[in-house]
Amino acid sequence: MNKGKRSLKKARLSQTRDRFQHRMSGNTSFNEGHRHRYSGITGPAINGQGPRHFHRFRQLTRFADGHRHLLSGKTSVPIRVSDSTLHRHDIIIESIKRV
Ligand SMILES: [Zn+2]
Ligand SMILES: [Zn+2]
Repeated sequence: MNKGKRSLKKARLSQTRDRFQHRMSGNTSFNEGHRHRYSGITGPAINGQGPRHFHRFRQLTRFADGHRHLLSGKTSVPIRVSDSTLHRHDIIIESIKRV
């Protein structure tokens, strides 16, 4: 039952029920003049679980204008959510591929 205790502690660091990942969603906007919605889950924490960790992600957007995109990038380091032990991240998109 040691393992279960440890999971619980880590769960408090995350916004999601999952121990190491975050739910992410948003809208992309491009110069092309249309938007794509995306939502999904980030990858696991990199750089430990502390104040310097970040996550990588790869996310397919919804269709718009007859196509969609594969987004990939990473998050910022954690941002404390005030009045709670949760944290969140800003999303840094590094590449957008039309698929
Ligand atoms: Zn597009
Ligand atoms: Zn995180």
